[in-house]
Amino acid sequence: MPEGDTVLQTATRLHEALAGQMLTRSDLRVPRFATADLTGRTVLDVTARGKHLLTRIEGGLTLHSHLRMDGSWRVYAPGERWRGGPGHQIRAVLANAEHTAVGYRLPVLELLRTSEESRAVGHLGPDLLGPDWNPGLALGRLLAAPERPLGEALLDQRNLAGIGNVYMCELCFLARVTPWLPVGALPDGVLPRLVTLAERLLHANRDRPTRTTTITSELRTPPGPPVRATVRVQERLYVYGRARRPCLRCGAPIRLADQDDRPAYWCPGCQSGPTPQGVSGDTS
Ligand SMILES: [Zn+2]
Repeated sequence: MPEGDTVLQTATRLHEALAGQMLTRSDLRVPRFATADLTGRTVLDVTARGKHLLTRIEGGLTLHSHLRMDGSWRVYAPGERWRGGPGHQIRAVLANAEHTAVGYRLPVLELLRTSEESRAVGHLGPDLLGPDWNPGLALGRLLAAPERPLGEALLDQRNLAGIGNVYMCELCFLARVTPWLPVGALPDGVLPRLVTLAERLLHANRDRPTRTTTITSELRTPPGPPVRATVRVQERLYVYGRARRPCLRCGAPIRLADQDDRPAYWCPGCQSGPTPQGVSGDTS
């Protein structure tokens, strides 16, 4: 699932391909905007806001898209084969003389007035990768609902924008608590450290082709038992996608359960806090 870092990389690629150039083709394949024609207009910039993409176009227009679970934007050279998926999955085509940007499986695609962008992204909390990043504000929003499970609170883009399921699981692991522990029950000082760590992880990954949370020891949180297992270089993540495989720290099999219909991975040896009913065996 795309997280803030992936969306930012996409925005950078689209910006490089489209910004400053006039559109020679525009094709929005959603019923509401199927007749919109943007050809002849210059793309001003493409930017990410949390997990939303904003393509600003001359004339006060913004094309707002969201990748959600498996959407993507690809950029092609003239004559290059489009490989992002079957044609019926294409939702948008924007082209200039040198590049063609194709949006696949975009669950959100809408044309807005740039002055009304806040309708689309105004609900977002401070953006972990944005110029307005404000850890104090993010912390305040997280603490405003102390009874909420940590995993759910981290995924709520109104608290802080940019964390998806991978980072949620990895952050809970690094904080040594399960995703079901209420925010208000975290040990003193852990939540501020978690917010700082989230920002550092997303920044460390913003230019990497593959996301990793095991990059450097400085990214590990200080409290808790020392690292016993040597982190193997090929392991990019501590818990996400590693169900039943041994924890890189303690060797216990990583567990998997649903949290609000999303997969949540955790290590029963390293992380304390509540876990869902019915997840008892190591083979779950
Ligand atoms: Zn462990």
